[in-house]
Formats: sequence, C-alpha cells, structure tokens
Amino acid sequence: MPRFHISNIVYELTGACNQCCRFCYNHWRPEGAPAPDPARARKTLRKLLSQCSVGTISFSGGEPLLLSNIHNLVIRARLKGSHVNVLTNGTLLTQDALENFVSLGVGAIQIPLLSANPEVHDYLTSLKGSWEKAVDALRRAGGKGIGVSVLVITKVNAPGVSETLSLVRDCGIRTVMVNRFNIGGNGIRNMRELVPDSKTLASAFAAVEAFAAAHPDMRVVSGVCTPLCFLDTAPYPHIQFTKCSTDLTGRPLTVNYDGDVRFCNHSPRVLGNIYSRVISDILQDPDINALYAGMPSECSHCHLLERCGGGCRAASEQLYGTFSKQDPIIDVG
Ligand code: SF4
Ligand code: SF4
Ligand code: SF4
Repeated sequence: MPRFHISNIVYELTGACNQCCRFCYNHWRPEGAPAPDPARARKTLRKLLSQCSVGTISFSGGEPLLLSNIHNLVIRARLKGSHVNVLTNGTLLTQDALENFVSLGVGAIQIPLLSANPEVHDYLTSLKGSWEKAVDALRRAGGKGIGVSVLVITKVNAPGVSETLSLVRDCGIRTVMVNRFNIGGNGIRNMRELVPDSKTLASAFAAVEAFAAAHPDMRVVSGVCTPLCFLDTAPYPHIQFTKCSTDLTGRPLTVNYDGDVRFCNHSPRVLGNIYSRVISDILQDPDINALYAGMPSECSHCHLLERCGGGCRAASEQLYGTFSKQDPIIDVG
C-alpha cells in the first residue's frame, strides 16, 4: 500500500532562538521555549518519516541552526526522499554549515533581510550586529545559488522597501518572499507599532511591484494572505500572491520537535500528536476538518470571499482564539 503522502511540512526543530524579533509570530514567543534538544528533534523526525512520505520539509524553529545535529537531520530527510529547505535568521550560518547543506542537496536557505539600513534591521530583530550577519549569510547562500530572502513589511521598515530589495538582489538572490507583518507571538505586544495602515501597505507593495517589474529575473512571492478589503492585490501583477487552503490533506502543515501537528506555523492550535496518533488519522479526522469549514460571519456577504478567505485566520486564532473571525489586521491597521 502506498505510504500516506504530505507535500509540504514545516518542521520546527526547536522553539528557541538567538533573536527576539519584534514581529516574531511564534505563538510561544512571549513566554520563551525550552533549550534545543537534538535527540528529541531526531526521534520526532524519525517518527514522522515512518508515518508518511513528505515532498518538501522546511527545517524551521525558533532558530534551526541552534541544533548541533541539523546536518544529520537533513541527511535523514534526504534519504527518505524529501526535498529540504532551511528557514534561518542567518546569524549562525558558518561557511562549513553552508557547504554541508549544499553537499546534502538542500534546495533553499531562507534568510530574512528587513532593511538596507542596519539600524532598522537590528531594531526589528532586537539583536545588534544581526544585519551584518544576515547580509553576509545571504551573499554566501546567494553565491551558492540556494539563497532566498524574506522581507516582512512593518510600519517601521515599509519606507525603505525598494532599497532593501536592491540590496537583496546585490547579494545574488533571485527569489524573495515579501510578506506583510502578520499579527502573532511577540508581534501581538508590538502590533500598534508594527501594523502598517492599508495606505502604507499599498505603497510598500507598489514599490515591490515596481522592483519586480524592473527585474524580470527576480521571483517575488507574497505568502501571507491579506484581506482583499485591506490590500487589493490587482495592481501588483508581478508579485505572486499565494492562497491558503483549508484542505488538511493537501495544504502545507507544521509539526514540531514534540510531535505536535498544527495547521501552519502561525497557528497555535494543536490538532494531534504523532506519538499518540498517526498523522494520516489526525488529518483525515472529520471533527478536526470541521474546525476549518466555517467562514467568518463578517465576510458572509462579501463577493470576494472565495478568493480572499478572510485573510490569515491563524492570526485570528492567536489574537481572538478562533479561526472563525476575519484577519485582525482589519481591526488593528
Ligand atoms: S522571527 Fe525567526 S529569527 Fe526572529 S525571533 Fe522568531 S524565530 Fe527567531
Ligand atoms: S472576504 Fe472578508 S476579509 Fe476578505 S475582502 Fe471580503 S470582507 Fe474583507
Ligand atoms: S493561516 Fe495564515 S499563516 Fe497560516 S498558512 Fe494561511 S495565510 Fe499563512
């Protein structure tokens, strides 16, 4: 019988991180997380890969490079036939670590660069010197052809978006994720400072669009669904906006080092644990699927509902404790 297949999993190797970004979406962030546990991360990965095949595993955290055995984990996933990406803040990416990732066939190393201005980047990460390390890591990963950059647009860095993208390109990067700040984790505490109003967000995306149009060799993707009544995406044809599906057996999922399965890395709700129930049963459970069937009542008469889905409702889970309300950026922005 063919093994149960999941196309895309974000595997959180640890909840710990050496940065404390003001916008960090990790739902556990304000309280912190236990120290990295390499043995636990290895055991859970083995358990996961015994229950299903996975098309692409993105090693994330927290900061995944805090795990001393991350390369062994990559080998295990690669031997099981998975593509592997690494989502890191870049500050701990040594040259040896990078070259090992390249040798092991890691497809992408994703590193955030928040501004061309070191002070703005370091302010947002709360770590002095992080800009220099992130730029250095991006240049080296770009040189190997596996670097991907991430730009989280907040009110603080929105005015410098064009300069940031130019620096990303100068680092040899040709794929960039441009996501608007999504409320959650530390970002709840800082949301008044960080959430851009819709006009500011629209002009930041206009700058991204102009950059993407001027550089056809760049792939620009925006991965956090934004309510269309907050940001109309039509004026930005050169940006690839993704859509969030609620089909649990087809969508990207998140599993953490303890085996907890979640809808995505932004969602705090645990759907089940792979040590007590196989992941295929969790994902095909009708009661669990029913949790994602409803639509926000605020959106019930909106003609854009099918395209929009009410924005990011994992952010609603974090702020309001329910998936059934529209994205909180509408109230806060
Ligand atoms: S956003 Fe990433 S780098 Fe920043 S604190 Fe959170 S896990 Fe660490
Ligand atoms: S579906 Fe809801 S969030 Fe989306 S545009 Fe309509 S009212 Fe706004
Ligand atoms: S719920 Fe939000 S963060 Fe999660 S995948 Fe969908 S848009 Fe992205």
